[in-house]
Amino acid sequence: MPPEFSLLSQLDDQLASLADQQLHRQLREVQTPTAPSLMVDGEALIAFCSNDYLGLAADPRVIEALREGALRYGAGSGASHLISGHSAAHAQLEIQLAAMQASHLINPRALFFSTGYMANLAVLTALAGKEADIFSEALNHASLIDGARLSRARVTIYTRDDLSALDRLLAGSAATTKLVVTDSVFSMEGAIAPLPELLALCERHQAWLVVDDAHGFGVLGEQGAGVLQHFGLRSSQLVYIGTLGKAAGVAGAFVAAHATVIEWLVQRARTYIYTTASPPAIAHALLTSLAIISGAEGAMRRQSLRNHIQQLRDALQLQRWRLLPSETPIQPVLIGPNQPTLQAGESLRAQGLWVAAIRPPTVPKESARLRITLSAAHTAAQITQLAGAINAMERVCV
Ligand SMILES: *Cc1c(COP(=O)(O)O)cnc(C)c1O
Repeated sequence: MPPEFSLLSQLDDQLASLADQQLHRQLREVQTPTAPSLMVDGEALIAFCSNDYLGLAADPRVIEALREGALRYGAGSGASHLISGHSAAHAQLEIQLAAMQASHLINPRALFFSTGYMANLAVLTALAGKEADIFSEALNHASLIDGARLSRARVTIYTRDDLSALDRLLAGSAATTKLVVTDSVFSMEGAIAPLPELLALCERHQAWLVVDDAHGFGVLGEQGAGVLQHFGLRSSQLVYIGTLGKAAGVAGAFVAAHATVIEWLVQRARTYIYTTASPPAIAHALLTSLAIISGAEGAMRRQSLRNHIQQLRDALQLQRWRLLPSETPIQPVLIGPNQPTLQAGESLRAQGLWVAAIRPPTVPKESARLRITLSAAHTAAQITQLAGAINAMERVCV
């Protein structure tokens, strides 16, 4: 056999083994704008799996701003930020983003990134080197895990339900640079990290607190500024990451922190320096999206979202499956083994309801779950339908 075929057959074997374990995943083609009602591979579905929490992704004003941004700045940025790709739209967006976090940081500045994945790699690799200690929550997002590895720092895992252990770990660290790194809203659980307690530990032990607020920005806090506003925190040791492709409905991410931290990222963050700046039109569209989030309409949308969350939690009547405690739009129903979880997902789809069936390795073994995400754009009737379908399914599932 020619060697290239043996290379391919190795991959074929590994793909077959994924299929055997029911871990093989499939792409689905969405043919309509991002919204609860979708056409997917020719099938009409109501989606409970997007992160478009406020329903802004297909908002006509945001779309119009994207068009206007393209007309004003062109389709692409043409270069990286430090060469000639940093447009007036990027600069303006960074000022707005810093203003949103102004009550929570000292001397705040924000830096825009193309994606949250890249922002997380940037923060961890620029702030932590070989001599640093990173303390990382067990349920952190893959991009934080990868950033910690890439930094070459020593990484220690902690869990949020044992903060006295984290206290001892921090006390025992002789590193001059210490980082505590956490998701604000755990993406497969919906629970919010105990940030006030974590910040107190970080201040006591002179550590940075790096907060990934991918699922909180736009959703939490009175003006939608996110988890720092939710808890009313303020510190120069906070390094805040918000993403802009979820509740903000567009794309990209940002880091907000003390201006000195941001200046260091501009000089050192490889995922900022060695990549083409994202299209200025994206930044321009985000200005419109941020104005909606921070204004009265944003507050109304967050209220609808909270109503939907309460409605779903009241309507689900589960005996064996378990609705995890969560006050955020992420509402997981824990089933356990892979097979019934997949079956539940398929059965919902047959009823026109699209809910992600999440399996290991995304979640720990034997903790497969339906991960429901809610949006302000859902209707009460859609939520009633979903809860009814899940209640009925649990009763017949063995
Ligand atoms: C989605 C997500 C990211 C990545 O952000 P992108 O902008 O999609 O790259 C990072 N962290 C968490 C917790 C996320 O959920």
